Parts: sequence; C-alpha cells; structure tokens
Amino acid sequence: MGAKILVVEDEPAIQELISYGLKQAGHVTFCAGDAEQAMVIVNDVLPDLVLLDWMLPGMSGIEFAKMLRRVTRTKNIPIIMLTARTEESDKVSGLEVGADDYITKPFSPRELIARIKAVLRRRAPEASDDVVEISGLRIDPSTHRVTVNNKELILGPTEFRLLYFLMTHSERVHSRSQLLDGVWGDHVFVEDRTVDVHIRRLRKILEAVDKDGLVQTVRGSGYRLSVGRASGMG
Ligand code: CA
Repeated sequence: MGAKILVVEDEPAIQELISYGLKQAGHVTFCAGDAEQAMVIVNDVLPDLVLLDWMLPGMSGIEFAKMLRRVTRTKNIPIIMLTARTEESDKVSGLEVGADDYITKPFSPRELIARIKAVLRRRAPEASDDVVEISGLRIDPSTHRVTVNNKELILGPTEFRLLYFLMTHSERVHSRSQLLDGVWGDHVFVEDRTVDVHIRRLRKILEAVDKDGLVQTVRGSGYRLSVGRASGMG
C-alpha cells in the first residue's frame, strides 16, 4: 500500500524523474509545477506527503509550506523540501516553517525513497509499507496478505485497510470519524454507521482464527486494536 505523494517541482525533467522513482517504489504520485496547481491537488486528494521544491515560479516552496501549515486539514501533511541550495541558513528556515526533512539536489532516487520512508514511518505509519504483526496476526501491505500461523485470511479491501490502520495505530482509541478519515479518506461522505458495519465484518473474519478479541469497542469513544483485555463492551 503505497503513499499518495504530491511532487511540486517546476522542472519537468526532475518532476518526471522523481515521479518515476516513486512509482517504482509503489507510491501513487501527483505532480504540480507551481503552488497554485499544488493547492488544487491538495484540496482534491489530500496527499500523505508533499515533496516541495524551494524555488518555484510564483509562490515559493517556503510560502506554500507555510500555507499548508496554517490550515487544519493540511497542517499535518509531512513535507520534504527539495532544493539546490546548500546554505545552512536555508535549511534552518525550511525546517522552521515545518518541513519534516530537507534534501539537496542533486540526490539519488534511492536516497529520496529512503528519506520518504523514514518520514512516513514517523508521521504516517499506515502509509509506509511495513509488515505489522500483533499477537500472531500478521498483515503485509505489499502483498496484501493477512495471516495467522501461516493460515491466510481473506479480507475485503475496506476490511484490509481498516485492519491495517488499526494495527499501525494499535492501543489507541479511534472515534468513528477518525477511522473514516484514516481509512476511507476525508473526502468520502459515508455515515458513521458504515464503520460499525465494517468492524463487524472484520471481527467475523478474525473470529475464525480466534483473534476477534483484538478489535475492541470502547464504549462512547470508538474502537481500538489491543492485546489487552477489552474494557468496554466487546
Ligand atoms: Ca525549481
């Protein structure tokens, strides 16, 4: 399960090179040549990460980063600044506006992919491609397989995403609307009840391998995946 990555870069050759590398690494990319175009994409698809060139025609990368940080919906999107500049002071101002990392051109695609992976793991664990195993339940986003003792469970796409989200954010309680944002995406208008329906389906699948107790209802708050005992009504 790759991440949705927005590449904001005005040089078509670099934009293409980056986007090719990202696709190879399994990510979904969106490209913009300036901040204005980038904003349209951000509003449309809320990316998991933004690769942002410093020097853009019109609004600069720094200004665009500040703008993203000002808005509730976009303020937590991880940003990696791309730049040809090497001065320490520029690096500092990049990090000051809230960039998560900073990469100086020219860089190798491999280095870029590694940095992206590090930032995503830190900021959005569900968008990295790591296998997660909790209490014998193993989920592998790259092969889309869920197994318990090598026995494969067959999950629908929504149950898969829901389980992966819960497993990458385990022990925390998530409200229905947080689950809708994290699993369905914040532009999808579905009712809270939809969450309950998919939780029920997920539990039913897990019940077959005696793992349904991992998905717990926290009364009045929402759901969590926990190896501890359920405290609310299970
Ligand atoms: Ca540029």
